[in-house]
Amino acid sequence: MSTRAAAEERVRWLREEIRRHEHLYYALNRPEISDQAYDDLERELRDIEARFPDLVTPDSPTQRVGETPSEEFPTFVHRVRMLSLDNTYSEDELREFEARVFRAIGEQEIAYTAELKVDGLSMALHYEDRRLVRAVTRGDGVRGDDVTANARAIRSVPLVLRDEADVPPTLEVRGEVYLPRSRFGEINREREEAGEEPFANPRNSAAGTIKSLDPRVVAGRGLDILLYSIADARAAGVRSQWEALERMRAWGLRTNPASRRCQGLEEVLVFCREWQGKRDELEYEIDGVVVKVDDFALQEELGATSKFPRWAIAFKYPAEQATTIVRSIDVQVGRTGKLTPVAILEPVSLAGSTVSRATLHNEEEIARKDVRVLDTVLIEKGGEVIPKVVGVVAEARPKGTRPWTPPETCPVCDEPVVRPEGEVDRRCPNVSCPAQIEERLKHFARRTAMDIEGLGDSLVAQLVERELVRDYADLYALDLDDVVALERMAEKSARNLLEQLERSRSRELRHLLFGLGIRHVGERAAQLLARHFRSLDALAAASVEEMEAVHEIGPIVAQSVHDWFRDPANRRLVERLKEAGLRTEEEGTAPVSPVLQGQQFVLTGTLDSMTREEAKAAIEARGGRVTSSVSKKTSAVIVGRDPGSKADKARGLGVRLIDEEGLSALLAGD
Ligand code: AMP
Ligand code: ZN
Repeated sequence: MSTRAAAEERVRWLREEIRRHEHLYYALNRPEISDQAYDDLERELRDIEARFPDLVTPDSPTQRVGETPSEEFPTFVHRVRMLSLDNTYSEDELREFEARVFRAIGEQEIAYTAELKVDGLSMALHYEDRRLVRAVTRGDGVRGDDVTANARAIRSVPLVLRDEADVPPTLEVRGEVYLPRSRFGEINREREEAGEEPFANPRNSAAGTIKSLDPRVVAGRGLDILLYSIADARAAGVRSQWEALERMRAWGLRTNPASRRCQGLEEVLVFCREWQGKRDELEYEIDGVVVKVDDFALQEELGATSKFPRWAIAFKYPAEQATTIVRSIDVQVGRTGKLTPVAILEPVSLAGSTVSRATLHNEEEIARKDVRVLDTVLIEKGGEVIPKVVGVVAEARPKGTRPWTPPETCPVCDEPVVRPEGEVDRRCPNVSCPAQIEERLKHFARRTAMDIEGLGDSLVAQLVERELVRDYADLYALDLDDVVALERMAEKSARNLLEQLERSRSRELRHLLFGLGIRHVGERAAQLLARHFRSLDALAAASVEEMEAVHEIGPIVAQSVHDWFRDPANRRLVERLKEAGLRTEEEGTAPVSPVLQGQQFVLTGTLDSMTREEAKAAIEARGGRVTSSVSKKTSAVIVGRDPGSKADKARGLGVRLIDEEGLSALLAGD
């Protein structure tokens, strides 16, 4: 990409292509290319834009995440009020709704749209000339917060609508922002490990995320959106709700494929019953169905009260709750040593599955709810796999129970527990605690990490108990005899396990990095770091600032990764993993850095913040080269403490000298 004209041409093509794939993936759920191929397109675009910064436009797919966190959100007054919905809880009440409609417009054949009521937060998106110009939360319905920077970080929010003739020049659409269940579980795990309060449900986590002041946090969370209405639909020439959904879809907006046009109320009832049974299969939480009179002319006739439209109603599903008895309270030790109390329950059926455990989060939570052994408790299924205890049924408490007391020592290794100031959790401080080792190994084996399916829970327990495995690297030293000697281990499954371990050696760097279980490093962060630094060595050598300079990586992740690599035990672990033949480098060509591409460096003297090897890896990761002797081709000599003769030679040749600070700046992209 030598000339600017060629770059411009390529940029235009890449943006179109990326937008097309975004649409296929997010709006239509019908991807045509692999994630990897998509990432490659995006990376190429980023690279060209880095070299030709004047080609960057705000609607470029690379510009989803703004660099600067906002101070606060400006208020925006909605042009059309965002109303709430009236609720019903039974089929009879739904029939009453129809009776009211009939009274207002006369009895007639009515078509409805039935839409799932996604439990998130509602948001308005404003487009002008097909470009996203503003995103506003519902707020109190009259005015909301302008959260444009955060909404841009949601992948399924198109920055530019498709080039369809009937897209109104100014358009406001509305929809529900939500956090997929899978992400909810993951985020809560990360929060708990970080000593932060877990979110109570996906709705809170979506709301909390959209109010985050840092768009990078939003991007990392994986929010999604489903659009369900056009604010000024009549002006847009649309005549019914069903048509509105169709038009939005055609314009590139993501709508819910489950929506259905129903002839008459009976079909609506079928829809409601159907989804009540299937709601657990959805990737998001729903709390009911929204029923809307389809025809806009009828909607207008019906009008609205001060709070609700009269042409729509929410049919709410009952919350999925059950009562049961607490048999005992167990304490689990997590991978970072965090102790989590868990209620062991009399098995009870809830939302289609049998539940025998519920999380109690932490001791403060238990104290607040005063949950005791033998209590009857109300449990509820939220987005999490494991349900939670909502509260105690006070009248049902038997005599002689006592409040629960948290353990003073680790239930597994007996080490006295610690509770760092300001944190709600107790921790087992013993890094060699068998429970922690087990949890780390299980995490390492996860499908999204190293994908070692044969390493099941009971196997991990035995390997740790017999002290065959203390850390990840030990796994790769196992041989057939070791494994066959374990209980209930047939030779065939032992061979299987060894094969899987063998295969895992060539897992991509991002999976390994995620598998290492560094606090705060979820799948996405691991992917971004691996893609940017391209080797464990380069990452180990990176400063906090360099990591933060990576798109979407925030200060907490950066600090945590930095600290992890500063621990000598972890450095040794990395060395042993390398010796075991694991892939610690990304394949393919290094990303091109506008600063270091094609430049040659020579290192001399001792650096304080990194070894020479690390400096070399960091430079190479950015497209630069490191050679051993100074020549006229040398771009610069990096001079550490007690430099050798190379520094003098550089001065003689007029080659630039850079100190350690300068190197850091260079690596950070300055
Ligand atoms: P409520 O908060 O119970 O008054 O219900 C109104 C809210 O339901 C709206 O503000 C939206 O956030 C949400 N909602 C979810 N799905 C839909 C949908 N398909 N149509 C309209 N509103 C919806
Ligand atoms: Zn312990």
